[in-house]
Amino acid sequence: MKRFIVFEGIDASGKETQAKLLSSFLSNKGFEVMLTHEPIYDEPIGKVIKSNLEKKISLASQTVAMLYAADRHEHYQKIKKALAEGKIVISDRYKYSNMAYQGANGVDPKWIQEIEKYSLDPDIIFYIRVRPESAMKRRKEKDLYEENIDFQKKVFDIYESLSKKYKFITIDGERSIDEIHKEILEYFD
Ligand code: ADP
Repeated sequence: MKRFIVFEGIDASGKETQAKLLSSFLSNKGFEVMLTHEPIYDEPIGKVIKSNLEKKISLASQTVAMLYAADRHEHYQKIKKALAEGKIVISDRYKYSNMAYQGANGVDPKWIQEIEKYSLDPDIIFYIRVRPESAMKRRKEKDLYEENIDFQKKVFDIYESLSKKYKFITIDGERSIDEIHKEILEYFD
């Protein structure tokens, strides 16, 4: 059984939708599930990240990368505890988001891998693959990153290369919510 499950993909690719569906499916099967999301905006480090996303403050990309890595490392302590208690953990975003987003902001990807190395790898990473043009049509409110199609394209390109490097399970996200969910369930026989 895969116990540490991660969803990755660009903004509005359908990660939250699919993470919730999978969580309900596994809960109904009798598993205890911790459904979680990064960054943790109501924790101290996440609050700084949020202020930057909302343009209340303006931080250097390298600083932002370190904040994401720090936020995740704190999150990872909770994930580890839940796994030790026998729960299944489903995380909407994980360290690959830092590589994709701060990589697109020009931060050295090798350095991001280095600062992320203490947050261990998940058992399975679902990459919901949606082209930026399709994803942009889905969402009305846009934050610092979402508003810029060229930026989303850079993020998408990095996800494409990460998908090979980290053996993501690539899921075609441009189908119906139900079709995507059914394909994901094939990994939980
Ligand atoms: P993310 O967590 O990747 O940002 P969400 O799951 O929040 O994405 O979905 C973003 C928006 O797109 C929501 O309004 C959601 O209802 C919609 N959506 C999700 N999956 C699909 C899909 N397969 N086709 C069309 N719209 C979708």
